[in-house]
Amino acid sequence: MVTSRTHAITLIPGDGIGPEVSAAVVRIVEAAGAATEVGFEWHRFAAGAEAFERFGEYIPQALYRSIEENKVALKGPVTTPVGGGFSSINVTLRQKFELFANFRPVKNLPGLKTRYPGIDLVIVRENTEDLYAGLEHEIVPGVVQSLKIITEKASTRIAEFAFAYARKHGRKKIHAIHKANIMKLSDGLFLRCCRGVAVTYPEVTYAEHIVDNTCMQLVMNPYQYDILLTENLYGDILSDLCSAFVGGLGLVPGANLGTECAIFEAVHGSAPDIAGKDLANPTALLQSAVLMLHHIQEKETAERIQAALEKVYEDGKVLTKDVGGTSGTTAFGDAVIAAMESV
Ligand code: ATP
Repeated sequence: MVTSRTHAITLIPGDGIGPEVSAAVVRIVEAAGAATEVGFEWHRFAAGAEAFERFGEYIPQALYRSIEENKVALKGPVTTPVGGGFSSINVTLRQKFELFANFRPVKNLPGLKTRYPGIDLVIVRENTEDLYAGLEHEIVPGVVQSLKIITEKASTRIAEFAFAYARKHGRKKIHAIHKANIMKLSDGLFLRCCRGVAVTYPEVTYAEHIVDNTCMQLVMNPYQYDILLTENLYGDILSDLCSAFVGGLGLVPGANLGTECAIFEAVHGSAPDIAGKDLANPTALLQSAVLMLHHIQEKETAERIQAALEKVYEDGKVLTKDVGGTSGTTAFGDAVIAAMESV
């Protein structure tokens, strides 16, 4: 293959459906790269339970080093055990590399019928603190405490990210999502920071909605929203809710962005119920890879994949079960690669 440049990418296939969707995505990205003369060197690492079994560490030191060197990673889902076990690999990586912005665009794919056509909204979620700081302890048996950390620094930084994104991409409206009526100090601080940034972007309409009302408003009329600016926990929950507007968790991509490094991963988890059955939809991870390609300035390769993906959905012949089709992960990947020939 003739390549004019090659990118080293850290790849964490993950567990559950992770290896299947990652394999499909790598094949598609390789095919698009071959057509656009861009090469990829995939540096593969296990993380979580698999890494612990093999190397005695949940996140191998070599994985940290690889992300530090490559600056860019594509990551499949990694299971975090409920209750006991190890802390979330996702949360640990986001904190370690200060990937403070979790960016999740929610947009319909053409041809795919959903309850709400024409959705185009973005969730910007603070990614390093809140109840996900992982600071929990047992005070006495039967009483535990989980600390919600909200800082001026992180809140201002994520608000600045959201408003700068809105300005750059001509987005009109930002809603800060909160529960400051109850959590007056923590969510109150978050809102004060958002307001402080909002006044410096007069062209972007700023509003505030309480999180429970937001859930209702989203289901009643999602079109009223453009960018949802949230703390960590609210953003996690709203992401799953919003994914349902466009066809479910199999579709929505995500980017974890910091000043130095970026990790691209789907919104969904490891979906153990369908793992190993060639049933998973690789679209969410594929669209995450498209975000990654834009991030590394490979616009042509990114657009080639997106166009092929949209063609497959428009044709509607080779789709996975979660979106009403009968095809498997592998066949879907093949269809996207075949569609590239005609875009
Ligand atoms: P986590 O808390 O780890 O983020 P989650 O609550 O988002 O996980 P998932 O593991 O993503 O939950 O799965 C929820 C359900 O959505 C699964 O049971 C599965 O049926 C479906 N699902 C998730 N991802 C996909 C996918 N890529 N393709 C098809 N179905 C999926």
